Amino acid sequence: MPKYLFVTGGVMSGLGKGIITSSVAKLLQLSGVRATCLKIDPYLNFDAGTMNPYTHGEVFVTDDGGETDMDIGNYERFLNRDMSRANNITTGQIYKKVIDDERRGLFLGKSVQIIPHVTDEIKRRIRDLAEKEKVDVLVVECGGTVGDIESLPFLEAFRQMRMEDGPSKTLFLHVSLAPELSVVGEMKTKPTQHSVQEMRRIGVQPDVMVIRGSRPLPPDAKEKIALFTSVPIESVVSDPDVESIYLVPRLLEGEGVLAPIRRQLGLKARGSMRAWNTVADRFVGHGSTVRIAMVGKYANLADSYVSVNQALAHAGAVKGADVSISWIDSETIEKDESQLRQIDAYDGVVLPQGFGGRGIEGKIAAANVARVDKVPFLGLCYGFQLASVSFARNVLGLKGANSTEVDPKTPHPVIDLLPEQRDVADLGGTMRLGGHDVFIERPSRAFDIYGEEKIRERHRHRYELNQTYLKRFEEKGMRFTAFSDGRRRAEVMELEGHPFYMGTQYHPEYVSRPERPEPIYVAFVEACVKRARRSRAPERRR
Ligand code: GLN
Repeated sequence: MPKYLFVTGGVMSGLGKGIITSSVAKLLQLSGVRATCLKIDPYLNFDAGTMNPYTHGEVFVTDDGGETDMDIGNYERFLNRDMSRANNITTGQIYKKVIDDERRGLFLGKSVQIIPHVTDEIKRRIRDLAEKEKVDVLVVECGGTVGDIESLPFLEAFRQMRMEDGPSKTLFLHVSLAPELSVVGEMKTKPTQHSVQEMRRIGVQPDVMVIRGSRPLPPDAKEKIALFTSVPIESVVSDPDVESIYLVPRLLEGEGVLAPIRRQLGLKARGSMRAWNTVADRFVGHGSTVRIAMVGKYANLADSYVSVNQALAHAGAVKGADVSISWIDSETIEKDESQLRQIDAYDGVVLPQGFGGRGIEGKIAAANVARVDKVPFLGLCYGFQLASVSFARNVLGLKGANSTEVDPKTPHPVIDLLPEQRDVADLGGTMRLGGHDVFIERPSRAFDIYGEEKIRERHRHRYELNQTYLKRFEEKGMRFTAFSDGRRRAEVMELEGHPFYMGTQYHPEYVSRPERPEPIYVAFVEACVKRARRSRAPERRR
């Protein structure tokens, strides 16, 4: 019978609850326990697909085509295992199911209520996933902060599961914050006390506390938290800031987070952390840095492109280089030529995913500068599409070439709607989504990089390369070397005679993991490292 570890958050959002959830699950996995994670998002959207990544964070795509919360990406990266859309539950999905059932007459004669009907559906989903995945422990992370109206039905469902299964099969881990005001210089425990009081009010007493802070929690603060939250002191775990998220499992292990979990849930300790530590150690202290320009819509939320950032870090880790990413606002370079020329000062350019027309002229121009100045370039999805537009305009001389997403009347629609999208009216969950097999032609750089003729990569798009232009591209050295769906979709572009100029219609970042970096990212970062060495060599500096 599966056991459940519920993770809740107090005080405020942005504490890194997803990383703590992933890290605890990783520690369980490393000690021989079969574990996976489930994220609960208490919003009414059916899924994250229609949400704005600049306010909510990246939309992650699972192999089965789910458009999920970005935490699912953290789970995959830490656990090195595929998740599915079932690993993310939203309030919208729960209510839709309950209301659909009501319309079908399944509750005939009853008044349908939050308790028990909504809570029953929540519990059913949680238990179904644990059983389907055949795990020993399901780590269930509840989004938001305790005290939010939105998350109440979920916390109530957790409370009921504790009643049904007992404390040896359920555990509550509460993540909180001990803030520090620089003038006082003391880590404050009051917000934590309040958030635990709020939990108790709804009938939940935490078993383990994980306390975030800029530095380790001093012993007196730990004692205070233990006393006021009624949690044994050895179950109060300090989680200070560290250099890389991949160091968090080791940190939490060192802080003894596993002991109370093992004791309460009756789990045996087997296995070792050694293999993971070797991987995690690669993420610190390289000494050398590659500087990469990411050209996109201005994004002040670091979470908007988290998988791209992580994939670059994974590649940097194996290539022994820190990757420093500078954001270049494509709308600014659209207006200011001098900014555009600065691209030459970077070791590489990434053109990430995107939608719509804002700032695209800047992106198209950046793709051209990278080509002409021979700066390593990687175009991802929209980046692949706009690099094609850039090549069509600047090399093939096709004036006004564009994607029909931006200019439906373009004389040269080098990027056009996927045929099966023509009759699609709804915007939620209707793109070409999820894992598809991609077939690589040889000889090609793509084949050199992947070393395989068939790879599996994730997708999220409505538009694609219009292959009627393919011949003209290839005559000028831009080759398309990987395809999918029986050659109907072009998936990889590569430019001859350039140190590294490649683009992918798929999103390689979604399958990159610290234990298994995605090969095209590794090859790109390798090219960036080469350029960095050359441009910073002493003789060139004169
Ligand atoms: N807007 C483009 C499309 O729909 C690219 C999407 C993306 O970058 N994920 O095809």
